[in-house]
Amino acid sequence: MQFEAVIGLEVHAQLKTRTKIFCSCPTSFGAPPNTHTCPVCLGMPGVLPVLNKKVVEYAMLMGIATNCSISGNSRFARKNYFYPDLPKGYQISQYELPIAQNGYIDIEANGALKRIGITRIHMEEDAGKLIHDPNRPYSMVDFNRTGVPLIEIVSEPDIRTFEEAGAYLRKLRSILRYLDICDGNMEEGSFRCDANVSIRPSGESALGTRTELKNLNSFKNVEKAIQYEIERQKDVLFDGGKIVQETRLWDPAKNCTTSMRGKEEAHDYRYFPDPDLLPLVIDDAWINELKEKLPELPDEKKKRFISEYGLPEYDAGVLTSAVELAGYFEACVKEFNNPKPVSNWVMGALLGLLNAEGKSIEESPVSSSNLAKLLLLIDQNVISGKIAKTVFEEMAKTGKSPEEIIREKDLVQVTDISALEEMVVKLIADCPKEAADYRAGKTKVLGFFVGRIMKETKGKANPEIVNRILKEKLS
Ligand code: ADP
Ligand code: MG
Ligand code: ZN
Repeated sequence: MQFEAVIGLEVHAQLKTRTKIFCSCPTSFGAPPNTHTCPVCLGMPGVLPVLNKKVVEYAMLMGIATNCSISGNSRFARKNYFYPDLPKGYQISQYELPIAQNGYIDIEANGALKRIGITRIHMEEDAGKLIHDPNRPYSMVDFNRTGVPLIEIVSEPDIRTFEEAGAYLRKLRSILRYLDICDGNMEEGSFRCDANVSIRPSGESALGTRTELKNLNSFKNVEKAIQYEIERQKDVLFDGGKIVQETRLWDPAKNCTTSMRGKEEAHDYRYFPDPDLLPLVIDDAWINELKEKLPELPDEKKKRFISEYGLPEYDAGVLTSAVELAGYFEACVKEFNNPKPVSNWVMGALLGLLNAEGKSIEESPVSSSNLAKLLLLIDQNVISGKIAKTVFEEMAKTGKSPEEIIREKDLVQVTDISALEEMVVKLIADCPKEAADYRAGKTKVLGFFVGRIMKETKGKANPEIVNRILKEKLS
């Protein structure tokens, strides 16, 4: 029997506001424990939350960007549970009336385009952080993160493979970063994902029993955990067993998921509307204002890169995957208006360099302006493409301009035809056997001659000119 997997993802994105969702404590990361706290986020009796308008705006932006309808009336709810990182004993979230619903994003995976539904997006506050030190007989708690604003983005169970899950997450993260409302850092926890996975016989339309996977703190882990879980569920069914609804933890060291808690131990959150917060009413004027303000998003930018710059779809996809990379490319094209070579250098040499050094595009030692200058020098035959690679490496090391490097290292291409002709005539005289071979029809020997001239000029000869002169003098 053939099975297909059904996957739905719940993503928590931390919003880049300056202050928390219901008080004016800062949200910045890395402060000493419990210094970003006040009676409101510590849940003292008698305090009242005040909603941060920026949080609402950011949640609306994400809703609009993912084709959701924005609810004119939404509401905050209390999600009740006891845990030491939750001082109030409840988390303020949204439940039956979320701010955004019924959207979608388009993704590309396994060579196909696919639309993934977004069920809902809601706002909520983050909990604190527990620190378990094995050398102490107790745990510690840091409430700096308590009350930091999050949006939860819940997908429809439209995802079928781990590749689609990866593509969906990358697209969501890219949109959040284009909107500049979340830094998308998975390792630091500002972009987190839980994966719901079930399988069913191919062709069946009813959903199978799902498990929920947690502790997925990188794209690779999400993909590996889903892959593992699909195989595990298949094995259970093939062995005549039943899938139990449970929460499972991904263990990145052992590459497997293990049961954390079953359905019986699942929380009953006793949701109810938060009486401390007014219903949230959003008028059309505000929604329209934000629609106007929406920046160009990845899909639109990709389309424009294809039509405006004549780039292949693949190039446009890579270059628009991050807004900063797209910006770098466009800045480069402004100074050197030849999009395809710019794209080749950005996707090849530049991304190669950044990957190798673990740097982001903003930290690139080669500025867009210096890369444009380099490409201009190739175009004007001042240096060859081969020398340009050397110059690029030097630019990466020193941050210097290409002109400076070429001057310092004396790398200007030899295009002086009479000097090259002289060299070629002498070389042919020195190698009569190879010359005779060429004339006898073994045209491959041309490579030998080109190689010798390149060696003599330390790679600085213009290869096209050398080829032309050689053919002329040999025939
Ligand atoms: P909960 O909050 O209890 O996890 P939700 O209804 O919010 O429940 O669903 C969470 C996620 O689980 C959604 O992304 C949804 O698409 C997905 N999901 C629901 N049922 C299944 C299933 N049978 N198989 C896979 N994913 C599922
Ligand atoms: Mg869930
Ligand atoms: Zn506070």
